[in-house]
Amino acid sequence: MKRLNRRTAITLVLVAGFLAGVLFFCVQLFRSGNDWVGFFGTTYYESGAIYDSKGVKLYDGQTGEYAEDWSTRVSTLHLVGDRNFGTSLRSVLASRLTGYNPVTGTTLGSHDVTLTVDGSLNAAAYHALNGRKGVVAVYNYLTGDMECLVSAPSYDPLNPPGDINENPAYEGAYLNRFFSATYTPGSIFKIVTTAAAIEKKKDLDAFTFSCTGSYQIGEDTITCPYAHGQNMNIDQCLASSCNGAYAQLALELGGDTLEKYMETGGLMESLEICDISTAQGSFEAAPDGSAYLGWSGVGQYKDLVNPCTMLSFLGGIANRGIAVVPQLVEKETLSGSAVPAAFPDGTDSFKIYDEATCDRLKQMLRNNVVSQYGQSQFGELPVCAKSGTAEVGGDKQPHAWFVGFVDDVNTPLAFLVLVENGGSGASVAGSVAAQVLAKATAN
Ligand SMILES: [Zn+2]
Repeated sequence: MKRLNRRTAITLVLVAGFLAGVLFFCVQLFRSGNDWVGFFGTTYYESGAIYDSKGVKLYDGQTGEYAEDWSTRVSTLHLVGDRNFGTSLRSVLASRLTGYNPVTGTTLGSHDVTLTVDGSLNAAAYHALNGRKGVVAVYNYLTGDMECLVSAPSYDPLNPPGDINENPAYEGAYLNRFFSATYTPGSIFKIVTTAAAIEKKKDLDAFTFSCTGSYQIGEDTITCPYAHGQNMNIDQCLASSCNGAYAQLALELGGDTLEKYMETGGLMESLEICDISTAQGSFEAAPDGSAYLGWSGVGQYKDLVNPCTMLSFLGGIANRGIAVVPQLVEKETLSGSAVPAAFPDGTDSFKIYDEATCDRLKQMLRNNVVSQYGQSQFGELPVCAKSGTAEVGGDKQPHAWFVGFVDDVNTPLAFLVLVENGGSGASVAGSVAAQVLAKATAN
């Protein structure tokens, strides 16, 4: 009898251990199943293909082949990815491409994913960067569809450079700068300062500023490239991007107010796009009355923005206060067929500033193009924009920014161009934006 009891006890212990193991496995399966499927090097499931919005195959999961055209292949590498990219769609969409089902743990066949991005537009944007590092992005601010998303430097996945880890030309090549980087915004931040001034400075319409080329705050000097002019109104201050005027506005508004408008603009958020979390922007409220506060109002000091959230922010102004979160997947179908395999991705959005504030900003950003940057480079498109030339310290050339949108419901495109160490924002990044917009609206 004693012996039997002992056997029962041993069996019970073994059964309990087994059940605990099964439970542990199930929990892990639900938590990490998607990652297991997506793990590079496994061949448990066959992966479907990734197409661009025009039906061009960017990647074939069966054969491992990339786009045939060199420019398309290189300019979509950060989207499609190889094993070096953590934020590539091959990685983050792995469970969708394999058709993996977490309930059954099996797949009933792979899925193809069609992107909203146009590979030929990406190729044009990559060439417009002309070998320089940076970001070019265009999206539909009403639907959220990304039409162009380029991060440079890139390389040909069929022929990766041997010196990629040593050659400074490839610095940060594995990073998708659009999602994962943050940058000093320079003068494009003046859009945020302007929004705060529109809402918090009741006498803004009566505001005038005379620029001598430098603006004194205590011992420190905020400089402009030259004397911008006498008795400029706020529209002229923004169009000429007068640092003196914006430093004075920043001092009047205060650091906490600027921080609040950066926050309300969504620029400190991390957005989720296809399970990719974007890097968060940041702003530090400098002490009242300090030159640091002045510099923070003109987009220098410790201001940092992420290109993806900045693009959404611009879309939010164009869309009168509702920022639509960018999306990448147009449809998911059973491999080799047009049969839908998933519901379309839902549209996500968030509120930024009031309608009236956005309308006023639009008017001012439109004036920038007409009075400062030149309408002719954009043809007939009613482009609203702001340039930025962000100082990055040392003896490095500043980063060149040109951001904005087309204020037309038939061409609802917001755009962002950043050329790292490119020099002047309006001429360098503006020219890239003009080329890409022309191509995007050509069809
Ligand atoms: Zn000035």
